[in-house]
Amino acid sequence: MRRYYHKIMIIDCHTHIGKGEMLNDVFQINSTPERLLYLMNKGGVDKSVIFPVCYKDYRKPNEEIAEIAEKDNRFVGFGRVSMNASNVTEQVDYAVKELGLRGIKLHTMDGFPSRELMDRINEYRLPVLAHSGMGTSPLVYEGLIQSYPDVVIILAHLGFDLNWSTMFSMPMSAFYLAKKYRNVYLDTAAAHWVQYIIEQAVEEVGADKILFGTDAPWFYPSIMWACINDLEISDDDKQKIFGGNIARILNL
Ligand SMILES: [Zn+2]
Repeated sequence: MRRYYHKIMIIDCHTHIGKGEMLNDVFQINSTPERLLYLMNKGGVDKSVIFPVCYKDYRKPNEEIAEIAEKDNRFVGFGRVSMNASNVTEQVDYAVKELGLRGIKLHTMDGFPSRELMDRINEYRLPVLAHSGMGTSPLVYEGLIQSYPDVVIILAHLGFDLNWSTMFSMPMSAFYLAKKYRNVYLDTAAAHWVQYIIEQAVEEVGADKILFGTDAPWFYPSIMWACINDLEISDDDKQKIFGGNIARILNL
């Protein structure tokens, strides 16, 4: 059978859901669970980690994610935090204790994590998926990564950047961090533009630290599936990237 996913569990660790409020950014609005499910089915994805698109206040969006994940076990919910607000610890407490969310998505659009926020995340041992690349150098996270060695930090997009002049150099700093620190992983979301980067990531960092992610519903899981499936690596390594690594991180 040519298509791999009939045999192994595929988990997409990076997807967004929400109506959104940034009407000037098509990537941040109108992502429905129905659309995501449709793309998951087309791409053979068994489960997706979901989190909100961008908002000013994440209380309601996080509640919406929790509700969707509660109804359908193909979804695993992560929350987002308004990092410039004064109640970051309360936001995390609510997301974990009340909503049962399993991790935190950090985006530089929402601010940068403070020590107070990271201390709370550390207490709960929540995995963090941090936006990196696409305008944010992965290296901005090195201090945080060093300070919280027990928090799993997934750097998004392999540090990939669409800017032509930094397209190849930005991922190198993500590779450096993933090789240097045991708590750092990389996700492939939106890095399908240059498949060579994905190949380089697996070669440099190793399959144990690369996670299948897509940024669906804007990017199709079936495309990223093909990128990973075409790599000249063992079936065992493909299995780790497609779902084994994130399943271990999240105890799925
Ligand atoms: Zn994303």
